[in-house]
Amino acid sequence: MVKKPGLKEQGFYHGRTWRHLRKLALQRDCYLCQECLKKGHITTATEVHHLLPVDERPDLALELANLQSLCWQCHEQTKHRRDCTPKGIRVIRVRDGVAE
Ligand SMILES: [Zn+2]
Repeated sequence: MVKKPGLKEQGFYHGRTWRHLRKLALQRDCYLCQECLKKGHITTATEVHHLLPVDERPDLALELANLQSLCWQCHEQTKHRRDCTPKGIRVIRVRDGVAE
C-alpha cells in the first residue's frame, strides 16, 4: 500500500494558510510562550506547536484550538517527548482492552 503524502510533504508549513493561522495563534497568546507562562516565566514565543500532531490529526492542522505558542526551547522539548521513547521500554498499545 502506498502511503499517502502527509501534510508536511505537501508543503503545509510553507503555505499561506498556515502562515496566517500561525500569526493568529501568536496574537491570541500575546506572543508569549504558553509553557513558560505556566511556570511563571515570561518568554517570547517564536514557534507555534500543534498540540495534537499533524501526522495523527491532519483534520486539526488548521484548528486554532490545536495550536499553542511556544518559545524555541519549549518547542524542542515537545519534539523530544515525541521522538525519544526511552530505549529498552516496550510501548504497548492497548486497543479494546487487548495489548497488541
Ligand atoms: Zn517556553
